[in-house]
Amino acid sequence: MSAARTACYIGIGSNLGDARANVERAIERLKGLRDTSMNAQSSLFRTAPVDAGGDDYINAVVRIDTALSAQELLQALQAIELDFGRERPFPNAPRTLDLDIELYGQQVISTEALTVPHPRMTQRAFVLIPLLQIDPLVTIPGLGPAHTFVPNVAGQAIHRI
Ligand code: AMP
Repeated sequence: MSAARTACYIGIGSNLGDARANVERAIERLKGLRDTSMNAQSSLFRTAPVDAGGDDYINAVVRIDTALSAQELLQALQAIELDFGRERPFPNAPRTLDLDIELYGQQVISTEALTVPHPRMTQRAFVLIPLLQIDPLVTIPGLGPAHTFVPNVAGQAIHRI
């Protein structure tokens, strides 16, 4: 019998190297995760770095259904990041690939390794706008409908490409 699957939203970002190709390749890798299927993917968006320097980011959000636990999913995402050669020389450094768990079903998770919903998702246009593109009615556990946070990010430049 297959385990129940949980709908999750993964935020993807890159601003080093060929950022667009990195995001497209990352989406293909996410499609290949074990016990997981991808059922929605946003457009790609170009955004200015938030609280960081470097080139513009390319961002996207995908929705997956997965039988992986949140911890297993985090480990799988980190393995993909490593394959893309990601280094973390300092906080918010430019990155070849950043993969974040934005939502894991309607679960609230707070461990040393993982905070879900992602604590900054309501403050980042590069998460909220792609997320709402694929799921306009999505709710954030404990916080309510995601669209109510759009005014928070109204000042952040984001362009669909
Ligand atoms: P970053 O360098 O910004 O990708 O942060 C990576 C660190 O954030 C890792 O050590 C993760 O354990 C931690 N982390 C906490 N919550 C999350 C989340 N929801 N998604 C991805 N990483 C997370």
